[in-house]
Amino acid sequence: MIRVLVSGACGRMGQAVVKAVLEDGELELVGAVDIHGGMDAGEMAGCGKSGVLVGTDLLAELKEKKPEVMVDFTRPDTVYRNAVMAVEHGVSPVIGTTGMSADDKEKLHQMALEKTTPVFLAPNFAIGAVLMMLMSRQAAKYMPQVEIIELHHDKKLDAPSGTALQTAEMIREVRGAVRQGHPEETEKLPGARGAEIDGMRIHSVRLPGYVAHQEVIFGGLGQTLTIRHDSINRESFMPGVVLACKKVRALSGLVIGLEKLLD
Ligand code: NAD
Repeated sequence: MIRVLVSGACGRMGQAVVKAVLEDGELELVGAVDIHGGMDAGEMAGCGKSGVLVGTDLLAELKEKKPEVMVDFTRPDTVYRNAVMAVEHGVSPVIGTTGMSADDKEKLHQMALEKTTPVFLAPNFAIGAVLMMLMSRQAAKYMPQVEIIELHHDKKLDAPSGTALQTAEMIREVRGAVRQGHPEETEKLPGARGAEIDGMRIHSVRLPGYVAHQEVIFGGLGQTLTIRHDSINRESFMPGVVLACKKVRALSGLVIGLEKLLD
């Protein structure tokens, strides 16, 4: 059994992770942390008493519960601090929180190597989203003109989404800079054409009703190709999170992307 602590346990994703860990035969929930604690983690996640109380002090929980893996679904301004604390205590973070800076990722990678405590991060734990990214990279070789539209619920703190940035990064691996649109186009409202990476445009939609969705639209002569993925609920991420909990200890440094764990 792999000993797992969930950080951000009371959040939308955290509750789904608590449930997934409790239901998996190879994982043991040993700790749960959030800003407000005191309740039973299993009851809070709607799956019955677990005997694990949600704590509020991550450091104390790491020392007392001695997990092997810490799953983190908290906030962009918290995740790095949590991950460093875990690595310092020999606990491998499985990070779902998006919005960590490239600089912090590099520092975490070095620290993970020094402490021989591997870290795994996925901007998207849904297998369908990973396939969308892999297929987009493949399509961009032949149809390099592309724009990304990502759509999320309106409680999301970061924009564009980690998935959109990772998709753009993977497309960048196979094509150079391509400027989309007319060379003389002007924005009558600033931001109308979205964010830009190497000429690729990313548009972020935030509305109640959405969970996590993305369209990657390729344009060519007389044709378009759209690759779309929809997470319609948070269960979609759980097989990926469970897989990462089982595989993270065998990695080295900071590994990014669920595709790295797939055979
Ligand atoms: P949420 O706001 O519902 O939950 C965040 C939880 O973290 C809250 O309960 C909050 O109290 C807690 N928290 C905040 N600071 C904390 C701290 N210092 N210590 C412990 N707990 C703390 O948010 P959510 O919808 O669950 O999303 C969480 C993160 O996961 C976001 O960054 C989101 O973008 C990301 N996300 C990633 C994936 C993926 O597949 N990688 C999927 C969905 C969401």
